[in-house]
Amino acid sequence: MSPHRSILTVHTSLLFDPIQKAFLENVSVEVNTLTGAIVRLHHRNTPDLTAPLSNRDIDLRGKVVFPGFVDSHTHIFLHSDSDRYHSVQMRDESAVERIVRATNHARAGLMAGYTTYRDLGTEALGNADANFRDCVNRGLTPGPRLFVATEALASSGGYEIRTESKLARGGPLGLSLPRAADLVDGVWAVRGGVRRRVGEGADVVKFYADYRRRVMRFPPDVQGPGGTVLFPPDRRERNPAMVLFSQEEMDAIVVEAKLADIPVAAHAAETSTALMAARAGVTTVEHVFADRDGCMEAMMGEMVSKGTIWVPTLATAEEGFDEEKYSKCKAAVKTAFEKGVRVAAGGDTGVFNHGLNCREMEIMIEAGVPVEDVLVAATHTGWHACGGDASGFRFGWWDEGNRADIVALDTDPRKDAKAFRKVNFVMKDARVWKRDGQPVDMVPANAWPEEAAQSSDEESTRCKQQPAKIANHVALSIRGSGNPTPAASDVGWETDSFDVKLA
Ligand SMILES: [Zn+2]
Repeated sequence: MSPHRSILTVHTSLLFDPIQKAFLENVSVEVNTLTGAIVRLHHRNTPDLTAPLSNRDIDLRGKVVFPGFVDSHTHIFLHSDSDRYHSVQMRDESAVERIVRATNHARAGLMAGYTTYRDLGTEALGNADANFRDCVNRGLTPGPRLFVATEALASSGGYEIRTESKLARGGPLGLSLPRAADLVDGVWAVRGGVRRRVGEGADVVKFYADYRRRVMRFPPDVQGPGGTVLFPPDRRERNPAMVLFSQEEMDAIVVEAKLADIPVAAHAAETSTALMAARAGVTTVEHVFADRDGCMEAMMGEMVSKGTIWVPTLATAEEGFDEEKYSKCKAAVKTAFEKGVRVAAGGDTGVFNHGLNCREMEIMIEAGVPVEDVLVAATHTGWHACGGDASGFRFGWWDEGNRADIVALDTDPRKDAKAFRKVNFVMKDARVWKRDGQPVDMVPANAWPEEAAQSSDEESTRCKQQPAKIANHVALSIRGSGNPTPAASDVGWETDSFDVKLA
């Protein structure tokens, strides 16, 4: 095929550039559907186009265009806590249900303009996130580009599904529950944990620097009369976040991860543990909702000097906290931006539903952060949170060779607080998944091989007798309206087809 048949040109009139932190006018972006990459960008002198549009042109003039958004903290296997609390999801939902839900979550995230997910732990589903990532990468189901943590690391008793029925665990009297984390204690054990994660296919190592691990001191209600602990202390006193690892252990996690060139994410609810994680040299600190020990300023100073990225997950704070605590979280994030802390946008999506990912950006703007800074947090800094070049890809800004991930909104987020909810167009890896506000090619469509579709009665008989040849990637039929690629055989992922015998 001639090379130009694989080139699509996306014409824009208003495009956000995260590197210049500015909106640019009249830019056209050429992308290659064979490589999934950006070929080049060129500035036009006017909003007009010199040639009539062909089916190789995509006209996004009048829309507001961004590189695909990165959600830097997601859980593909979780749905909203308000539907069903996450530990109950882990305990009671079948693996099949959770995977089917994840398939829907991935579609929802992509339709919301999120072309990359940094997915921080399966929550008691082992390494299934790595398998799910591979399914997306193999073209079996639509979804964001996934960078996964597999199982998070925690110390003994640190992060698990709690139950009082733990007596004689492994024997006849206790409940058998899936583990919620890879539990490691001591410097060499944590290094072993990192090595296991790397071996299991993780893209990022996640560890719990602290957690509310004293819940069984005053355990939650059990069903039926007499199931409530009478007169427990105040909720915050009852079960505050407590540090899980020593400084030595956190240091060792980072040292080991560096040997494998893999980024590290630390869950830290408290500023004091976030400070320890930043000192250890983690790539990102997740959450930071409380400042019990007055370490906020020291934490931000350490983050600035180390280049640590903070993923404050404000959307989850909004879900879970009272107004006073939530307001403090927002104010801290505004301060962090002002002090030059690198901040990435990640909602802990899954704790609230996938598809609503943009709430994190909306809250940052509500907190007083300039729209342009928020957009950088949701694009270029997201790429850094995924490990930057160590991720194996470039995305989140415009450059030749970067992944061709393009999102268009109907309105301008500088003028419309709900702009991020109005996603008109989504392209990932040069493939269109949403156009004119409608999903494209979302439903797997099996197609008969050409000779069978056009067969005479005689050929039909032959087809019954002989195994038919079916394209491998039937799930990603390119015959939908959004992708004007001329022939299936021109598309990269269609090339490695194999023979399937029909039963
Ligand atoms: Zn999380």
